[in-house]
Amino acid sequence: MARDMMTRCQVKRKYKIDGAKEWRWCEVAVTEVREGEDIRCLHCHGNVRVHRQKIETGPQDHVEHKSRDESKSCQGGHSFEGTHRQSAKPVA
Ligand SMILES: [Zn+2]
Repeated sequence: MARDMMTRCQVKRKYKIDGAKEWRWCEVAVTEVREGEDIRCLHCHGNVRVHRQKIETGPQDHVEHKSRDESKSCQGGHSFEGTHRQSAKPVA
């Protein structure tokens, strides 16, 4: 059974904290991801790819795991098999 699409992800952005700039992961809607930004899966921190909505009636903007194995072991994954694991190669 197809699972819900991942319409949110984490993106790495620069924040100013106490005057110092710092890179931080934050959760955003995939529609808010800008070209060239580093992204990762919200759940397992694995590598994901953005799929943009192409036609009005098509799937909305979402991300999918690049790795098939991660898709099976991530609770947000398309092919999730029931046991969640964090990515073995998390995007840092
Ligand atoms: Zn994941």
